Amino acid sequence: MRILPLLLLLALTAAACGGSRASSPSPTASPSPSPTRAPSPSPLITSSPTPVPTPTPPPPPPPPPTVDLSGSVPRQGGFLLVRLLYPPADLGDAGVSFAGQTYQMLPAGDRWYALIGLPTWFATGDYPLDVSSSAAPLAATTVSIGEGGFQYESIELPPASEGLLSDQSAVAEERATLDQIYGGFTPERRWSGSWLLPAAGNISNVFGLMRSINGAPYYPHSGTDIANEKGTPVWAANSGVVSFAGALFLFGNAVIIDHGAGVFSAYNHLDSIVAQAGQAVSQGDLLGAMGETGYVNGPHVHWEIVIHGVRVDPMLWTQGPQEP
Ligand SMILES: [Zn+2]
Repeated sequence: MRILPLLLLLALTAAACGGSRASSPSPTASPSPSPTRAPSPSPLITSSPTPVPTPTPPPPPPPPPTVDLSGSVPRQGGFLLVRLLYPPADLGDAGVSFAGQTYQMLPAGDRWYALIGLPTWFATGDYPLDVSSSAAPLAATTVSIGEGGFQYESIELPPASEGLLSDQSAVAEERATLDQIYGGFTPERRWSGSWLLPAAGNISNVFGLMRSINGAPYYPHSGTDIANEKGTPVWAANSGVVSFAGALFLFGNAVIIDHGAGVFSAYNHLDSIVAQAGQAVSQGDLLGAMGETGYVNGPHVHWEIVIHGVRVDPMLWTQGPQEP
């Protein structure tokens, strides 16, 4: 007879515990039914219930600054398009650190960006990539650089052409001229959309082909060759300002366009030139006529795209807009 009261006591205790919040009425805390808060019985306003003040939710925190590499071709002869998404509102400057160098980033709408060329000889593997301002680190990631998959071939050139290479001082002078041009940096981006092939013709030589000329060591082809008859029009692959128009030693008659943001394009071995240094050109504007000046074995245009002094595969730029 003592068990029953004990069980009853336990049950009551459990009920009291489980329902203590509801069943321990406090005169001040308990909701007192108020006629004004009762749902209105009128069907006319059931679709717009009496507004009940709801606490304003705090604004969601802004996303952290994020590195986006989705526009990149991360392989030898490719390039990185580094975007900083969700930059701090008061960001005044930013730079990318990659493989021992720092590249200035440029604002573009709601983001910042920089382009980085990947040389044909760049060692494959994983590389840290950091974005920071002069004030603080902003974001970091790791990028994996793959192989370019370049082919190898040996060709013979007439001794007359080979003789050009033996003039070391002329070769060095040309290189210095080009280094100075490609060392320039115009922050304003002048290109947009997809890039054109700069001439009609056949692709006679692809970028990155490892060539041995007359038995010399293999050296990567630094552009895309488009071959056609001498005199074939050569036009600007995209918009920019002509930074060089004149005669070079190995590249022959050449036009170089500064597209801004560290991106240049070059049109070499021309028969004649109509563009002038300092001239603003639009995509498709005539630059000159195809020829075989300089170190060549037939009429063609040797087309290059150069990012911060690094030659990259020009065909990558014809396959879609490289928008920041
Ligand atoms: Zn070429």
